[in-house]
Amino acid sequence: MTSAVIMLGPPGAGKGTQAVRLAAELGLPHISTGDLFRENLSNETDLGKLAKTYMEAGKLVPDEVVIDMLFGRVAADDCGGGYLLDGFPRTVAQAEALSERLSDGWTTRTLQLDVPDEALVERASGRLLCKDCGNIHHEKYKAPAVDGVCDACGGELYKRTDDNAETVMERLAVYHNETSPLIQYYGEREMLDVVDGSRTPDEVFEDLRGLLSPSGTSGQEVS
Ligand code: AMP
Repeated sequence: MTSAVIMLGPPGAGKGTQAVRLAAELGLPHISTGDLFRENLSNETDLGKLAKTYMEAGKLVPDEVVIDMLFGRVAADDCGGGYLLDGFPRTVAQAEALSERLSDGWTTRTLQLDVPDEALVERASGRLLCKDCGNIHHEKYKAPAVDGVCDACGGELYKRTDDNAETVMERLAVYHNETSPLIQYYGEREMLDVVDGSRTPDEVFEDLRGLLSPSGTSGQEVS
């Protein structure tokens, strides 16, 4: 059965870290709407210019813009056998658009990473990303062996401009107001599994992997 796997959680919960690993494990393309916007930003496309002000302010890019971009991406051949979404949907309107798009025979699985707010600002604001492979390090919790260099591929590490404490707090408020209603949305449809994201990345990964194994629970076929 073909699956759309959705990673849900506040900024700093570990979605990106887990999404990269899980996608590799499942052999599915990892589609991060934040990464797609950052690519557009660095290529200075019209879409990048439009998204920039929203991203820098920690606000959501308007639904119709994100939905168009995402649907363009998932129309590619590599997504025909399923995909893993990281950072989409972020509003109920986005979730509704996605469910309308998924045809019969597709299963939707939503994995929510639950982490208390107190831990999130420190986690997100210490984050270091690899320019080449997207691997995520942390200044305090997962410092690279060599300063500024990715442990996995030797690429250059950088800090996202929206990973400063003030913008992270705004992103957290946006999450609570606009994205957290998705917990109820997917919960009511029995498509949601919640994982305690405050443990080590390996422990969280094992839980996620178990849930997605053939005997894992939940998930519901889209009719
Ligand atoms: P992320 O890398 O997922 O934290 O996304 C970075 C930023 O990109 C967000 O703070 C938003 O400004 C924008 N963004 C990414 N995904 C979405 C989405 N599904 N809806 C609206 N804005 C998004």
